[in-house]
Amino acid sequence: MSGDPAQRFAAIVGSSHALTKADQMAAYISDTRGRYQGSARMVLRPGSVEEVSAILHLASETGTPIIPQGGNTGLVAGGLPLREGEGREIIVSLSRMNRILEVDTDTNTMTVEAGAVLQTIQQAADEANRLYPLSLGAQGSCQIGGTISTNAGGTGVLAYGNTRDLVMGLEAVLPSGAVWNGLSRLRKDNTGYDLKHLFIGGEGTLGIVTKAVLKLFPKPRGRDVAMVGLSSPRAALDLFNAARSMAGNALTAFELMVDTAMEFTLLHAQNKPRRPLAAQHPWYVLLEVSSGRLADDARLLIEDILSSALERGLIADATIAESGQQRANFWALREDMSWAQKPEGASIKHDISVPVGAIPDFIEEADAAVLAITPGARIVNFGHMGDGNLHYNISQPIGWTAQQHFDREPDINEAVYALIAKYGGSISAEHGIGQMKRDRLAASKDATALAMMRQIKTALDPGNIMNPGKVIWPEEPANRA
Ligand code: ZN
Repeated sequence: MSGDPAQRFAAIVGSSHALTKADQMAAYISDTRGRYQGSARMVLRPGSVEEVSAILHLASETGTPIIPQGGNTGLVAGGLPLREGEGREIIVSLSRMNRILEVDTDTNTMTVEAGAVLQTIQQAADEANRLYPLSLGAQGSCQIGGTISTNAGGTGVLAYGNTRDLVMGLEAVLPSGAVWNGLSRLRKDNTGYDLKHLFIGGEGTLGIVTKAVLKLFPKPRGRDVAMVGLSSPRAALDLFNAARSMAGNALTAFELMVDTAMEFTLLHAQNKPRRPLAAQHPWYVLLEVSSGRLADDARLLIEDILSSALERGLIADATIAESGQQRANFWALREDMSWAQKPEGASIKHDISVPVGAIPDFIEEADAAVLAITPGARIVNFGHMGDGNLHYNISQPIGWTAQQHFDREPDINEAVYALIAKYGGSISAEHGIGQMKRDRLAASKDATALAMMRQIKTALDPGNIMNPGKVIWPEEPANRA
């Protein structure tokens, strides 16, 4: 078959689902943080796995680069056209393939299409008296396929693991157009390479995830949340260890927040939140305890944790949410931190992890290094302390322009990532690599690991059509044109 490739692609999905006009494509080619803006040839919105297969088959035949995209809420520009791209790429949006296909309460699984929105999945689990524990700021618009392709983390990781731990099976379309049916519902299946893990966190570089079997969990009967004020990350680490040893797996969240992050949120959040504790503190922890047996268990446990921490002098103040509304308000303070930095100007962002025990030393050294480079920088540090994961963000000094701030970004990044290397941490804890951290990955990851990654990429995607230039280049940088 011949003809203009653009028309052939459009014919697969039908012209009404092939977007080519600039205004139609605008939402698909830029990121929410406003740091990336690309151009694409078209956006295709397939309605079935057969259409996805036909798109990739044609893309292989014509050497057309394909960018899979979910809710476009990613933070490393992994689902966007390449910065150095020339408008040749075709975005494949999974948003029409959004059905929940089956909830199996005996096996405790849910089978979904890749475009289903995370919050819809959470609600469907809830209606079946189950829990799908993945929880993150973008849950109202991010799609499950995107969370799988980026191995999303969020606030439920401490108790339930990353997305990698929540997926039982997958269906994916390979660059050739071949469809892999790996929709297993087996808790045990020890039959060689576990292929789903290539696509989980693969950021669309090996194929397109089209369906998934997710693990469901019992819904907690009780859930209590406390906001704690304390003096230092060291005190927070001591509190974490105490809470963990008292609550075990019932400790379902432990989020650390610096004062600056809290003040930005109190200032900018739209619902004008109240200060959670009577006084201001240098650091805060949001601590959540859940219980499976009786609702009261969580309450007794969290009271025990806090009263013994007060006795030991680990914490300065604490308050337990007295209602579902107050619980939601505490969580909103934490969740609103991501965007509450925006009104404060330009922000240099890091999504990093270090071993949990290294967090106090890392913060002390990183803060000193950043302030030596940019005196007056406002460090907005918060994150999932229980997972060793910090969103170590730096807002511009008051009175600076964004450009002045970003001029020092390379120096600040070098300083932060040198400490990450020192402490055996990761340059990307939960956001992925995309195009933002691709070169840093190449510079920092073990050489043998990079070689294996390239071999896998080349084996599955010999034409390099799947999200090219994201995560990893197929050749050594020296061989690249
Ligand atoms: Zn996070």
